[in-house]
Amino acid sequence: MAKDNLTAVLYGIEDLRLEQRPIPEIADDEVLLAMDSVGICSSDVQYLVNGRIGDFIVTKPMVIGHEAAGVVAKVGKKVKHLAVGDRVACEPGIPCRYCDHCKVGKYNLCPDMVFCATPPYDGNLTRYFKHAADFCFKLPDHISMEEGALLEPLSVGVHACRRAGVGLGSRVLVLGAGPIGLVTLLAAEAMGAEKILITDLVQQRLDVAKELGATHTLLINKNDTAEDVVKQVHAVMGAEPDKSIDCCGTESTTRVSILGTRSGGCVVIVGMDVAEPKIPLMNALVREVDIRGVFRYCNDYRAALALITSGKINAKRLITHHFDITETAKAFETARYIHVGAIKVMIHVQPRGINNKV
Ligand code: NAD
Ligand code: ZN
Repeated sequence: MAKDNLTAVLYGIEDLRLEQRPIPEIADDEVLLAMDSVGICSSDVQYLVNGRIGDFIVTKPMVIGHEAAGVVAKVGKKVKHLAVGDRVACEPGIPCRYCDHCKVGKYNLCPDMVFCATPPYDGNLTRYFKHAADFCFKLPDHISMEEGALLEPLSVGVHACRRAGVGLGSRVLVLGAGPIGLVTLLAAEAMGAEKILITDLVQQRLDVAKELGATHTLLINKNDTAEDVVKQVHAVMGAEPDKSIDCCGTESTTRVSILGTRSGGCVVIVGMDVAEPKIPLMNALVREVDIRGVFRYCNDYRAALALITSGKINAKRLITHHFDITETAKAFETARYIHVGAIKVMIHVQPRGINNKV
């Protein structure tokens, strides 16, 4: 096996370095992956720019990256379902498996979760990465490695729509057309929503949303009040949404989500912009609008993979830029500035396309 294990390590604010790391040894229930594709997430960018997200603070060097797919290079003795050469997507969070949350199946709430590129745990923008085998999902031949990496954000969209109870005939408002808003749109469509209105401050992102199947788009003017936006949403949609999914998490989008949702409907908050926004709680209460949180995903990778495998969802359109791992700094520059039209920036750890079968 090659000795090269080039790895992208975040040392602190604005200090991302490429360096060699030892190739990890695997345990019996793990696989060693030769990483292929790693997408950049807005959280990776936030760690680079701010060194923290809420209480998660980069205090020691951390390997960046968590939206990933790779090829199995070694299997542990106890691993039955994977073999060397299998192409897999990796679900990046490994829970303890023993706590009450894990036992009842809500493992995303496990307090001892080890999640890639969430301090203090290393991520997987590296040539060789070891991972729990049961959190690796084998990709069918017609699915590309890049699509495998996209299963990570897509699983957030699937989880958000499941939390909202999106189903046949749902009228869904999605706030924010960043990668997370767009995957939520794709999931809502696949789950049978009748109407989906998506909002953003940037027309270019709404244009992509339209291409991806949004029935309605609404360009928001930053100076509009939440009440103004709600009126526009109802007028453009020709209905009140019964599900609103806030993929920004700003005070104004959360206000719009609550005020705009039909009585008896459901608001789901995915965006994490403001920790303690001022929200119209009484309005939600007297109209029995449920407010629910989303934390990543839980048992959603399989469904996300099925949606891509069946062709119900084409997530590839989200990828706007490609870089080699040696160009990691440039890739992050591109992901930071949406005026260059970046939605999903993909980093290729191996020559682009080398592990794709079609
Ligand atoms: P992003 O910053 O790329 O996208 C946010 C979008 O919202 C941008 O296009 C922006 O123009 C738009 N926007 C900002 N203010 C708006 C407004 N008032 N009205 C309408 N649109 C507005 O981020 P992303 O990668 O799409 O992630 C979205 C959010 O989801 C982030 O806060 C991220 O931290 C969070 N997130 C949460 C989870 C979770 O488990 N809860 C998982 C992944 C991401
Ligand atoms: Zn646990």
